[in-house]
Amino acid sequence: MMIAVSERSRRLATLLATMFKTVEIGSFVGDGLIGGAGEAIPLIDPVTGIALLSYRDGGAGAADAAIRAAGDGLAAWRRLSASARGRVIWAIGQEVRAHQALIAEIEAINVGKPIRDARAEVGRVAEMFEYYAGWADKLSGDVIPVPTSHLNYTRREPLGIVVQITPWNAPFFTAGWQVAPAIAAGNAVVLKPSELTPLTSLILAHLALKAGAPAGLVNVVAGLGPTCGAAAVAHVKTSLVVFVGSRRTGAEIARLAAENVVPTILELGGKSANIVFADADMDQAIMGAQAAIFSGAGQSCVAGSRLIVERNIHSAFVERLAGAAQRIAIGDPLDEATHLGPIQNARQLERVSSMVRGGVSDGARLVSGGSAPAAFAQAGYFFSPTILDEVSPEMEIAREEVFGPVLSVLPFDHEEEAVQLANDQPYGLAGAVWTRDVARAHRMAAEVRAGTFWINGYKTISVMSPFGGFGQSGYGRSSGIEALHAYTTTKSVWVETSAAPVSAFGYSGER
Ligand code: NAD
Repeated sequence: MMIAVSERSRRLATLLATMFKTVEIGSFVGDGLIGGAGEAIPLIDPVTGIALLSYRDGGAGAADAAIRAAGDGLAAWRRLSASARGRVIWAIGQEVRAHQALIAEIEAINVGKPIRDARAEVGRVAEMFEYYAGWADKLSGDVIPVPTSHLNYTRREPLGIVVQITPWNAPFFTAGWQVAPAIAAGNAVVLKPSELTPLTSLILAHLALKAGAPAGLVNVVAGLGPTCGAAAVAHVKTSLVVFVGSRRTGAEIARLAAENVVPTILELGGKSANIVFADADMDQAIMGAQAAIFSGAGQSCVAGSRLIVERNIHSAFVERLAGAAQRIAIGDPLDEATHLGPIQNARQLERVSSMVRGGVSDGARLVSGGSAPAAFAQAGYFFSPTILDEVSPEMEIAREEVFGPVLSVLPFDHEEEAVQLANDQPYGLAGAVWTRDVARAHRMAAEVRAGTFWINGYKTISVMSPFGGFGQSGYGRSSGIEALHAYTTTKSVWVETSAAPVSAFGYSGER
């Protein structure tokens, strides 16, 4: 049953007031919320298309204030021992756990994410802080056996103030994914979530403070990309920019950061191949193919948006998948029974619809979906699970990210062709193979160009394992120990140990 819009905005206001004691949201700078002075930004309910609340763009002023606060936060964070920092990071994870229901409900209302998925994502964020809490006092350097009389050792040092810019599809999950390793490595953060979904990122900053983080360690700037996002990227005190979002914006941000010689980590889109061989466990592969593209209404960077299926099972597989797609429970994200909610925003819905229309006019065959489900045609941003068959590799629908519940099907005849189809597009974020042939599975894992690859599975990721892209999906790695390396830099320290006088060139020679 759908909850009425006024009830939804009232519920959202109640949840926000529980957390912040106010519904006037703004940027979280230092130790609290500050209002913006820029244009009003409405948060639209994706279920109805009607505004839930609005706030003002923080603009360059909020970005500057947040960076200054981060300078204070960084200094205070450095004064704590590494073990004390680890205890604070653990405590953030516990605050997240304690507020799981509230955060999940806000995310479900703002993003349109089914409540069960939202709840699971909040749990994953708690895990992220718990995992990196353990790392905080284990990041050590090396002693290098140099050929001189020196003791030479390395220190892993934080970069300083890190700007993180995130998209609207999984805002709380992405915030945790980036904030936890950044602060575990000793940095302070200025996070700029999508202007469409800032609420749970603000909550994360609030909970970090509550858990004992110094004021200014985690700041969140609420507002538009070209105003506050760009100002944070271009700020002279910014030392690293981490961007999660579209390829086009990522390239623009990398250019802007490069002007100040600031490094970037880019986590961009994908067009991931889900490859099914005829010898696969069919029931598992059908389930996997559905989850790969339809969970989160396809608004997932790792979505398995291209089904590359062996020709002798192609028709039967597509038929079964289409049947399964029609049984997916579409509905209100707050309903426990819902598996597929709406697209988050009107612009994205228009992109999804127009790419499907483009695919059909390029010659693809619409097997199922292609428009809003009948029950949701009047309001909101719903789109049915859609399958396009007879897609060929040169079509736009086979090459460009849709970021919606739209699957393109491409048949193949032999293994080399499957690899060639998988790699014949500009991205390289993820991929999967379904087969009972172990040797072939590993050959595919080696040949498919992707940062993450699954064998007989799809979508499993963990904070413990590195994540990132090849090609146009970006560079740099988040999660695992690799994120700690990305969020630090190495200093080499030379200590003269010789009793003999130092040579004229300050070099005591090779021994
Ligand atoms: P987007 O690129 O439009 O926006 C992402 C963020 O960048 C937002 O916070 C936005 O406000 C900000 N931004 C926009 N212009 C800016 C500018 N000039 N300067 C600074 N900041 C700016 O992406 P989106 O539409 O929000 O999200 C969808 C995209 O995100 C998809 O392409 C998807 O694949 C990608 N994504 C990638 C991953 C990953 O981990 N690889 C995860 C989730 C989403």
